[in-house]
Amino acid sequence: MEIRTEQFVEIAKKELKNARNKQFLSVLPLAITISRPRSMQSFPDPEAANEYGRAVRAEAVAGMPELLEEFEKNALANGAKIVWAKTAEEANAFVLNLAKERGIQYVTKGKSMITEEMGLNDVLQESGIEPFESDLGEFIAQQLHKPPFHIVGPALNIPVEEISDLFIAKADMKEPTTDPVKLGYAARLYLRDKFHHLAMGITGVNMAVAETGSIINVENEGNIRMNKSSPKIQVSIMSLEKVVPTMADAMHMIRLLCRNCTGQKLSAYISIDSGPKKSDEVDGPEELYIIILDNGRSEIYQDIQAREALRCIRCGACLAACPVYCKIGGYPYGWAYSGPMGQVLNPLLLGLEKTQDLYHACTLCGACKSICPAGIDHPKMFLYYRVQEANSDKKAAGGFITNKTAKFFDLWRWGTTRAWRWKMAVKTARPFVNRYAKDGTINKTIKPVEGWFRTRNLPAMARKTFHERWAEINKKVTSDQ
Ligand code: SF4
Repeated sequence: MEIRTEQFVEIAKKELKNARNKQFLSVLPLAITISRPRSMQSFPDPEAANEYGRAVRAEAVAGMPELLEEFEKNALANGAKIVWAKTAEEANAFVLNLAKERGIQYVTKGKSMITEEMGLNDVLQESGIEPFESDLGEFIAQQLHKPPFHIVGPALNIPVEEISDLFIAKADMKEPTTDPVKLGYAARLYLRDKFHHLAMGITGVNMAVAETGSIINVENEGNIRMNKSSPKIQVSIMSLEKVVPTMADAMHMIRLLCRNCTGQKLSAYISIDSGPKKSDEVDGPEELYIIILDNGRSEIYQDIQAREALRCIRCGACLAACPVYCKIGGYPYGWAYSGPMGQVLNPLLLGLEKTQDLYHACTLCGACKSICPAGIDHPKMFLYYRVQEANSDKKAAGGFITNKTAKFFDLWRWGTTRAWRWKMAVKTARPFVNRYAKDGTINKTIKPVEGWFRTRNLPAMARKTFHERWAEINKKVTSDQ
């Protein structure tokens, strides 16, 4: 997958003009604000449930090295094969070599953000091994060569007519239809055929349980289960932070994940694998490989502040809560992870230089933080990145501030720390930015300033400060007594 985080502004501007996405995004927050609280209310004590979830994630991330060792020991005892991969390239090379060794021509995949991060599909395709996405949304996005629009629903924004045309062209559907059942059936028929002759299925991992060595997948379509039970070889890929201490912790996090993700109490399918198929079992793979991918996470772990990002359980709740995401959708974020979780994770995984626009595209309203079941303080993380950026600019310039934003705020600080300076600045600026007369008519001789002042006037300063007015009121009250 091409990384386009540096084109954030350019793509966002384009997406803001996309009428179809605009319409869709306007109903997204409404859907989540209705279904999520309703499902959270089914906990006897929703706040305590959230509190427990936050504690589980904080504890799991803090104890990650020991938990991963425990997970490896127990998974090996279950008969799984563990592969540690330092980088995405290493993980991709392992999957590719394994497929080549076994003479595999195609693989199916369950929806997994980690394989998007690795760019696994491109690597397989370039070597002549066809990857088929088996999640309906991923399948549509893959066929249209589009990045995920949303981490939970990658093709949520694609019009049904376009899907119908696509299925006629690519999935052997005979007639056009907008009936979702018929469309689902066509995709199912097409993919079932792939599952029948499948030799290797690839999935992600929602949670890895240290105490039992089990991996857990949560889904609604049943395709991940098909990926695991149809082929002889199952490859499940997880990043380091997927590990949780106990099965009880995992079960609680699944309850929170489903409620925050789709507003369901539980997803339709939850699969728990403890090793490959046993001799007395009918279904399941003969070989189970679990790839544990680092890809920069052990470095993130060393940074006590940045580490908080690893708590994310990919529920997607913060996307629907974010006023920025709900205007521009998922494409501008330019990579696998979008919305506030992408703004938190992408800078750590790709570097601050490539992702500056992402962590600046935030008003710090805190809506994401207030909804996050993993207890991530997104605004605090964005400020942390901004401070690091400003410090590195300063350092690069031998202690002088060169960055435009930093210079602006330096001037801002100078102007706002004395009342007279601020008053003078506002008075000077008003005739140049205020386009609206009292009766609402627009003064067309004033060129519109981009952003805030395009639709608003800069108000005049009050004649007296709040402190002066307060002192006057107090004086009056005292004299009246
Ligand atoms: S940051 Fe929090 S709310 Fe957003 S996807 Fe991750 S866990 Fe969910």
